Amino acid sequence: MKNFFEKTKLFNKNTILKILKEYSGPIWIYQDDIIKKKIHQLKKFDIIRFAQKSCSNIHILKRMRKLNIKIDAVSIGELTRALVAGFKPENDEIVFTSDIMNKETLQKIITNKITVNAGSLNMLEQLGKYSPGHRIWIRINPKFGHGHNQKTNTGGENSKHGIWNPELAIPIIKKYKLNLIGLHMHIGSGVDYIHLKKVCDAMVNQALYLNQDIQYISAGGGLSIPYKTTDIPINTENYFTLWNNARNIISKHFKHKIQLEIEPGRFLVGESGILITKIHEIKKVGQKIFTLIDAGFNDFMRPVLYGSYHDISIIPIDNRSLHTNKYIKTIIGGPLCESGDVFTQDENGKLLEIRLPEIKIGDYLIFHNTGAYGSSMSSNYNSRPLIPEILIKNNIPKIIRRRQTIEELLKLELEIK
Ligand SMILES: *Cc1c(COP(=O)(O)O)cnc(C)c1O
Repeated sequence: MKNFFEKTKLFNKNTILKILKEYSGPIWIYQDDIIKKKIHQLKKFDIIRFAQKSCSNIHILKRMRKLNIKIDAVSIGELTRALVAGFKPENDEIVFTSDIMNKETLQKIITNKITVNAGSLNMLEQLGKYSPGHRIWIRINPKFGHGHNQKTNTGGENSKHGIWNPELAIPIIKKYKLNLIGLHMHIGSGVDYIHLKKVCDAMVNQALYLNQDIQYISAGGGLSIPYKTTDIPINTENYFTLWNNARNIISKHFKHKIQLEIEPGRFLVGESGILITKIHEIKKVGQKIFTLIDAGFNDFMRPVLYGSYHDISIIPIDNRSLHTNKYIKTIIGGPLCESGDVFTQDENGKLLEIRLPEIKIGDYLIFHNTGAYGSSMSSNYNSRPLIPEILIKNNIPKIIRRRQTIEELLKLELEIK
């Protein structure tokens, strides 16, 4: 088993050791170089729109804007983050995607003239009534889906997302003179290009059938990343070619160039992130060994929610070599008072034993590829404060979110007399 620094060359050893000296407790770390590299791989698309729900730290968002990326927001909180990070409502820099919205959100959207990607007919009614002429996209459910898990499926009869009969949107759009600028489908195909072709064909069919002159189409997100060493990385060339063909047919139909947008979250940030935790106990329980670390599923949710796999590596506290033939089989658990707080489980909640070298209390245990849906999914369960986030740029670590304090956590309640 390789230690962390042998496993990945993406992080400078001295920089990481410096961070470990300075901060205790679990920490999220992001590497700027990787984000830049991933953006570069998608440069053929006219517009890259970052799905910020995957990693919504304002400093990451600012960085994205600097790198010419536009932004997607799916809640009033994310909309506020986008504005605070400097994204402007002009040029559709911000698009609000949702299937419903409350009064407060509608108000904010109208006041700031935020382009809306509507996933339901009622959203169009709401918007039309108060803001005729508003710039909108419609999100279409192409009546089929794809997804590594029912919980992440975004199309078909088992998905709540998008408009099932987009032709019913047209009279509403006409009635309120809403300005339809684009068609959107977020299905995601990973590395399944046959499926992707089906999605692209569905987009062409819808665009021609609806026959509303538009300026944009969006390929949505859902580009996978290799979590396991055996996973195949996405071929962005294939991805672009299929979507570009679809775009060209639609451009030809409307006799002007349609802009092609892509909207990834995971692909841009997933591989840039790691979660560093510390081993606090190695416990024998009957025939099993539980290794307990200082991060729980309140910090890092994916393994518990989806049974997601994340590579694990070790930084030995005492610099000892891990090159030994001695392994232990162990289950990795967290500190939460909840038996499901286990990072090594399958999607049905069955606990899995993994092979680790002979570890010691005090060693660091690192989860890889946690940049997407890591920190942004954290909660305060067990009254645990949110943990710090650090961005490494040009080998210089910069804290981009400090640890939340327990006082801050209690304040909402203590304010009430
Ligand atoms: C979540 C989401 C994305 C990003 O999905 P990834 O799998 O992270 O690429 C893109 N668009 C919409 C509308 C989403 O909800």
